[in-house]
Amino acid sequence: VMCEVTVTPMDLTKGRAAGITIEDRSRDEETGQMRRDFVANVSHELRTPLTALMGFIETLRGPARNDPAAQERFLDIMGREAGRMNRLIGELLSLSRVEQDERRRPVESVDLAALLRSVVTTLSPSATAAGVRIEAEVGDGQVTLPGDADQLVQVFHNLIENAVKYGGSGGVVRVQLERLEHEPVLRGPAWTVTVEDEGEGIEALHLPRLTERFYRVDAHRSREQGGTGLGLAIVKHIVNRHRGRMKIESTRGKGSRFMVILPESAGRA
Ligand code: ADP
Repeated sequence: VMCEVTVTPMDLTKGRAAGITIEDRSRDEETGQMRRDFVANVSHELRTPLTALMGFIETLRGPARNDPAAQERFLDIMGREAGRMNRLIGELLSLSRVEQDERRRPVESVDLAALLRSVVTTLSPSATAAGVRIEAEVGDGQVTLPGDADQLVQVFHNLIENAVKYGGSGGVVRVQLERLEHEPVLRGPAWTVTVEDEGEGIEALHLPRLTERFYRVDAHRSREQGGTGLGLAIVKHIVNRHRGRMKIESTRGKGSRFMVILPESAGRA
């Protein structure tokens, strides 16, 4: 397994105090052990809601048989658990698709600016409902680069949704699009999308593992909010497929910043 992660204190890169930034350039090469762990994780993640469902079915048959109020409550919970299983299966399928065509670079071209505007528009109502304001600094022009539109929608949908989810009520989520004349690692012009929140941040020790499948800082909290723990793994594979880079910076108590850097042109294979 080759995994390259650089950890640099955030204050060295951005002049901010006490933060940490990691850069994820890992290319997961699946080993037998990883595959077994993955299957064990999937089974566990599916079994948790399933066990709850089976328990409620028993309760509806027995103790709650003549209690319409309890039935109503249990059916609500059962609906949520079934929804969770459905979401998990959707994300597993999307992860496996993305992993499958990771070696094939996207050939179509996309308008990244329009794509970001549309993701922000889609997520704004639920952000507002959660007491979070999304501020987009994307401009109103066109930004064309090689990319798979559906997959890039998934990337920014996941990142912005996380920022809203973990950003905390009353906060602002900032979405920025900037051009880099010369990106040193990609060795050419590139576009950076930054998704920044004002949440509680992520402790440094978690950062290098954040994009692993099913890795969560707080599994209970993630589940409560309907998370599957697969979002960032999907993001990473899509960014890899686009031959881009991803950086995560976070300061405890201040917030997190997720950056996706995509090459402006196809360049070398
Ligand atoms: P989940 O479905 O749990 O949100 P993700 O793969 O999207 O799964 O994220 C993995 C974990 O990373 C989350 O469970 C959470 O602990 C952490 N995380 C992701 N984004 C943020 C953020 N903006 N602020 C704080 N923690 C985050």
